[in-house]
Amino acid sequence: MELTIRIIIYAIIVLSYCFSLWLSILNYKNRNAAIPEEVNDIYDEKAYQKWHEYNMANFKFSIVTNTISTLVFLLLLITGFFPLINRISIDLVNHYELQVLFFMGFYYLVQYMIGIFTSYYQIFTIEEEFGFNKSTKVTFVKDKLKNLLLTIILGGGLVYGLASLYSNVSSMFFVYAFLFLAAILFVTNLLYVKVFVPMFNKLTPLEDSSLKTKIVEFAKSVGYEVNKISIMDASKRSSKLNAYFSGFGKLKQVVLYDTLVDKCSDEEVVSVLAHEIGHNKHKHMWSGLLQTIIQIAIYIAVLVLFFEVPVFSKAFGFSESNFGFALVMFTVLMTPLNIPISLITNYISRLHEYQADNYAATNYSKEHMESSLKVLTRENFNNLTPHPVYVKMYYSHPPTADRIRAIRKVK
Ligand SMILES: [Zn+2]
Repeated sequence: MELTIRIIIYAIIVLSYCFSLWLSILNYKNRNAAIPEEVNDIYDEKAYQKWHEYNMANFKFSIVTNTISTLVFLLLLITGFFPLINRISIDLVNHYELQVLFFMGFYYLVQYMIGIFTSYYQIFTIEEEFGFNKSTKVTFVKDKLKNLLLTIILGGGLVYGLASLYSNVSSMFFVYAFLFLAAILFVTNLLYVKVFVPMFNKLTPLEDSSLKTKIVEFAKSVGYEVNKISIMDASKRSSKLNAYFSGFGKLKQVVLYDTLVDKCSDEEVVSVLAHEIGHNKHKHMWSGLLQTIIQIAIYIAVLVLFFEVPVFSKAFGFSESNFGFALVMFTVLMTPLNIPISLITNYISRLHEYQADNYAATNYSKEHMESSLKVLTRENFNNLTPHPVYVKMYYSHPPTADRIRAIRKVK
């Protein structure tokens, strides 16, 4: 039985790896497909050549990192790393929740070290070479330390909470864990712009300008109250552009990247904002929230399954069910389970993007919505010809050509 479980788990890991590799290759091969007419003016020949090189660099990089992380995980499983850190944790502390915390801490440390090397390479080699990187090594180190601190506090709190729920209310674990995770999600969402963003970036209120007047005028024309518009100094890390809405109700605010304001005309920024208001008017955040709640329920069910069936832990050298190890193994089983989940959630998300584009085109301007999409695509160096299967699996936004085609059809 234990051997069968081991074989199944190894098969899941290897097959998931092969599946993502297959998708990447499929998408990479599609790079030479004919450029759709809607987007053929985005890059000039020289820029497109550069995009091809960028695409290749990222493709190779993703294969290398994916291979390394899969190999490392298999190695940890085969060499008995997990029972080892479990014994060390038990020797170190007496307290059950702390043992789980130490166990996860050791494992996280391995992941963190790999993460430092890969993100360093990505930022200072690939992004740097193609001129997107604006970050310095000091910012990088600071970011990593702040991330580590946040993970220790939030991730540690989460693991501690789950472990303590499990040891205290094990029969009702599913219900309590669900409420616990949903509450954490809600609070972090609420505090995102107030607490977490300022740890990494500076937010300044948009000062009075022609842009602000145009934003306020448009918002008023569609009966939308803009509580707060902030500019985020995204340019200290990357030249890429974005904007988003955050929070609920009265705490809701708009965050514009300084890079967006810099590269777009006032009208283009307003159209990006109109798109965001479109999401809001269609109440997309509620369906997003519902999706997350369903996902949390599925995740906890998988976690319970791993913990309730001791053979999963025994197959990898434990004498009984281990909560920390169940948490680790849960991430393995989530990979194949995430395939149907991503297909559905990304499908819904792309549908919402069309609706938001439609809202902006109808209520503001087709022309500016289209041109802002082109600026975003160009500055973010997006793929003009992603493979349709890759899009279905990974794209939360439709490819630019599809979005422009839909915008042009708006009456
Ligand atoms: Zn959107």
